[in-house]
Amino acid sequence: MQHNGRHFGRRAFLQAGLGVAAALALPEFVRPGHSSGRLEIGDGEILTFTDGTLTLPVASTFPDVAKQELDELLAANGMAADMLTPDCNVTILRRGDKLVIFDVGAGSNFLSTTGKLLENLAAADIDPADVTDVVLTHAHPDHLWGVTDDFDELVFSNASYHIGQVEWDFWSSSDALSAMPEDRQTFVVGAQNRFEAIGDRIAFMKPGDEVLPGVEAVDTAGHTPGHLSFLIHGAGEKVLVAGDAISNAVVSFARPDWPTASDQDPQLGAKTRSILLDRLVGEEARLIGYHLPHPGAGRVERKDSAYRFVPV
Ligand SMILES: [Zn+2]
Repeated sequence: MQHNGRHFGRRAFLQAGLGVAAALALPEFVRPGHSSGRLEIGDGEILTFTDGTLTLPVASTFPDVAKQELDELLAANGMAADMLTPDCNVTILRRGDKLVIFDVGAGSNFLSTTGKLLENLAAADIDPADVTDVVLTHAHPDHLWGVTDDFDELVFSNASYHIGQVEWDFWSSSDALSAMPEDRQTFVVGAQNRFEAIGDRIAFMKPGDEVLPGVEAVDTAGHTPGHLSFLIHGAGEKVLVAGDAISNAVVSFARPDWPTASDQDPQLGAKTRSILLDRLVGEEARLIGYHLPHPGAGRVERKDSAYRFVPV
């Protein structure tokens, strides 16, 4: 698995079929060799780091979408018809005395293609011990499991941890395991194991909360019951850390109404996505998507009766 910065970024962009415009935009955002991207917001800076990639069959990601329409949309955008290989973009906000990380990657016990975050942070001279706050969008493995290392010790050893109360309650409940389809039951065991490790450092959030100065929690339930996104405010600008509320650079924008099996509640996920895209356009906010092509940042534009993603 190649995860050299330049290779990684370029491969992801080419895979997404975003073409020459995206390739030209790359040097402004990607620091060569660091597998990372950078945005400014007011007096703060936002960095993204890749944790690696997932591999998802198209057919099982969109089982309830007409295959021909889906194939045509993917082909028109240069995307493979059989397999998706989304990146995993971890966001860091550095502002004032805060060093905040939004989701922490999968750690070393999920997939061989993930768990690259720590080496990419090290390449950028970021010490996990300096992170003040870990802010979680939801409790899926690729977002949460990296809170602990192989010895079950906390990776971000001095941080406070923030998670939605609804999300916490969902994964903690005594019937979470029996209610989950068998192929996802390890998600429950893994979440409960990580929750135990961070349990005495948790601050719970709800939609609308100012989680940290200038960081607003936004209700994006659907992908999971308590999924939150985070709107970072600064000097009249806004950047949304969307997590998995918007997850595919083509389909989520062109057909936000299409249900995806990635969402635990596909109908609510679609509704949330449409509301969020409308808000991003209306507020001219930039967006960072956890699974959008690395470095994951861009703007949303209206296109026809839907939207399109414009990487920055
Ligand atoms: Zn995810």
